[in-house]
Amino acid sequence: MPTTASETSPHRPDYKQLLQDVDAFAIAEVDPRVEHMESSPHAVEHALAQLMAQQGWYGVTIPRAYGGMHAGHLAKTLMIQRIAKSSGAASAILQASQLPVSMIIHFGRDEQKALLLPQVACGKVLLSIAVTDSKSGGHVLGMQTTAHHDGDDWIIDGSKLYIGNSHLAHVHCVVARTAPAGITGSRTLTAFLVERDRPGLTVEPHRPALGLHGFSFGRLTFDGVRIPSANVIGDVGSGKDIAYSSSILYGRPNLAAVSLGLHEAIVETTVDYLRTTKRPGGLLSEQPVLRDRLGRMVARLRAARDLAHRAADMLDQGQACDIDLINSKNKGHEWAVKSGQDAMEMHGARALETDYPLQRLWRDAQCIYAPAGTGEIQRLRLAASALDESPVEWSTQLALKTSLFRGSVYR
Ligand SMILES: Cc1cc2nc3c(=O)[nH]c(=O)nc-3n(C[C@H](O)[C@H](O)[C@H](O)COP(=O)(O)OP(=O)(O)OC[C@H]3O[C@@H](n4cnc5c(N)ncnc54)[C@H](O)[C@@H]3O)c2cc1C
Repeated sequence: MPTTASETSPHRPDYKQLLQDVDAFAIAEVDPRVEHMESSPHAVEHALAQLMAQQGWYGVTIPRAYGGMHAGHLAKTLMIQRIAKSSGAASAILQASQLPVSMIIHFGRDEQKALLLPQVACGKVLLSIAVTDSKSGGHVLGMQTTAHHDGDDWIIDGSKLYIGNSHLAHVHCVVARTAPAGITGSRTLTAFLVERDRPGLTVEPHRPALGLHGFSFGRLTFDGVRIPSANVIGDVGSGKDIAYSSSILYGRPNLAAVSLGLHEAIVETTVDYLRTTKRPGGLLSEQPVLRDRLGRMVARLRAARDLAHRAADMLDQGQACDIDLINSKNKGHEWAVKSGQDAMEMHGARALETDYPLQRLWRDAQCIYAPAGTGEIQRLRLAASALDESPVEWSTQLALKTSLFRGSVYR
């Protein structure tokens, strides 16, 4: 955990207590469900999502003025990390509905904040963020889901794919193209709040994936879905800024935390196996080659932890840290997958048994490459930063206003 000048700040949350609470929850509620979730890839885990809602955890970054925990980004990271150590799917559920809070806090109108944030904070309403289009993937500006004016309303048509908590969210924060066909540029998109019971919105049946069993990241189909103008988030044309800033300020640290929790579990599982497995030459933990590989895993884990915690802490401090957030997701995932592969090989055939946790951790880690920007996208941003071509610094432009320690408009 970082030690900074503000360690003694009265605003610094009680991380020790938070970790104790999350740890106790993981042992009591998450661990006993893992086996069932793994063996039911066709099912969505509603009960656990509800239990986490009752803890108020979806509102971890919501200011106290709106009933939230106002505990900040490092607290969010620690929470997701600990849940991921028990279950990648449970942590994916948690982070997917924490993420859209960014859209409301930074861009929502006063009435939207007053209405939605307290309901998210008390766990009554779960949000999703629906940006990825079925036809354009990670190319946000190329999306083909449209919204056009009809009197005072907007009509949305199209489809969104791989939407985290598609089957759990009560309100989807949807980004759609509002500029007429043929117009290009950064002001072509707009964000909308779309309640799940709006006529014309279909949540397509849940399909099992390689990993994260119990987490739904499915397809939303919009067929003439009518939305009042009051549901527009921010200004018409600001959808790209809303999508990008949410992905950087919340998405990347959230996914870095999921990778980190999985990575911890991978290392612990491997240590346990090496220590307890005897071969004619002695315990596997005594083999120099395996000790070397374990040492590399530990080095990666420690570096990933430093990156993720430092970036989240910088965000809480109101410092410029977009690149740190991007890098923590990029390296955090890369290193977790590398350690996962090492662990699989060091376990021999034991790794392949489906009742052994390692293959679940390995599969779950693969699922963290794409969300909140693939490795290619992260590296493009890192290169742009080195070439002094970085666009807006969202951490100082937006997050400073909700920082725990500096410049916050909330107390
Ligand atoms: C577990 C999970 C949860 C998710 N949750 C959400 C969510 O809550 N909300 C949401 O909106 N989306 C979500 N997504 C979708 C995710 O954001 C997309 O998968 C991601 O943006 C990439 O899109 P794609 O999978 O269609 O890949 P594509 O965009 O088709 O990319 C395919 C490959 O091409 C590369 N590529 C594409 N464009 C470029 C480029 N310009 N330069 C270099 N390389 C490029 C990619 O890096 C990748 O390697 C989730 C995905 C997963 C797996």
